Amino acid sequence: MYGQASVFQNSGRWPASADGLTRVPVCIVSGSSAQQKASGLQKYYFHQTNPSFAQVLDHVRSALSNSWEYWSTVRFTGWQNCSQLTRAEQDLAIDLYIHPEAANNSNVGYGTRTGRTQFKPWGNSFNSCIAYSWARARMEYDFSCVEQYAIHEFGHALGFYHEWSHPLTPASCSARSPITAGDSNFSVANPNRYDWDSIMTYNDDCAQVNGVRFGSSNLSAYDRLGVATVYGGAKQVNASWVNSGGRNKDSQNNNRIELVLAEAKNIQIDLTSSIDTYLYLLDIKGNQISYNDDGGSGYNSRLNVSLTAGKYLLVAATYSHGQSGNFQLSINHGGLNPTGQ
Ligand SMILES: [Zn+2]
Repeated sequence: MYGQASVFQNSGRWPASADGLTRVPVCIVSGSSAQQKASGLQKYYFHQTNPSFAQVLDHVRSALSNSWEYWSTVRFTGWQNCSQLTRAEQDLAIDLYIHPEAANNSNVGYGTRTGRTQFKPWGNSFNSCIAYSWARARMEYDFSCVEQYAIHEFGHALGFYHEWSHPLTPASCSARSPITAGDSNFSVANPNRYDWDSIMTYNDDCAQVNGVRFGSSNLSAYDRLGVATVYGGAKQVNASWVNSGGRNKDSQNNNRIELVLAEAKNIQIDLTSSIDTYLYLLDIKGNQISYNDDGGSGYNSRLNVSLTAGKYLLVAATYSHGQSGNFQLSINHGGLNPTGQ
């Protein structure tokens, strides 16, 4: 069963590609714009140059890369104008609309793609990200609204409901609309506790607001666990060496696979093959954390390590140079993703 994090609609899961990644196409609806001045009398104040739509889109993409994509196999792809796509391609994509007059909302999950995923570039009047800087005596633009609204609305597009759909939503949350506990159409995050810190909740009565409006400025610990559980990588990868690089952890001929751990764990990593294996665990920058030669059965490699939540690299290597053949890499916690895409 799916589980953990905000309330997830099981039918909303986007399909995975054969390589294990979940590619979610996005296109930009024409007329999208980041052109806006402050409201009220402040619109007459001197303004910093209005950031371009391309700059705003860069912030949206980097916010998604540091949130949903970071902790899962989800990869938002495409990003052309919707008008460049065929009708069929457009129907398969998230239609993204960013505009000062846009509502902040989205369809939920795969298969509900007739509407838009949309939000304002600079927040609402009550949390505007166009604010006066006393230091520079001008109105300035702040990207935190568009980044945090993007994470929230794309969370819906991936299939997550508001946290106040949780069966344990407190009565003091005015938006409360709980699903029935145990409803098999949904996966409930942290089933024993309402997550006040979720990016999928907002307003003071339903969220421990942190950032421009939501329970967190990025994914909460349970949001991470949720997306990793629903969209996380494989527990086992089968692949092969062609003329392996021996014990050289940096050799291009040794396979690299990304390990994502959404929570701190004691983890066991096994590399098995009919060839004598050698296994490296690296941090995401490529610095060695640990290695093993024959810790598994026979000449197979095994690592038992205690790791904090985050991303790591595993290098499937061989004791001897120039080997060719199949191997299997497996873990008991977290997910394995292909690298370089
Ligand atoms: Zn929402």
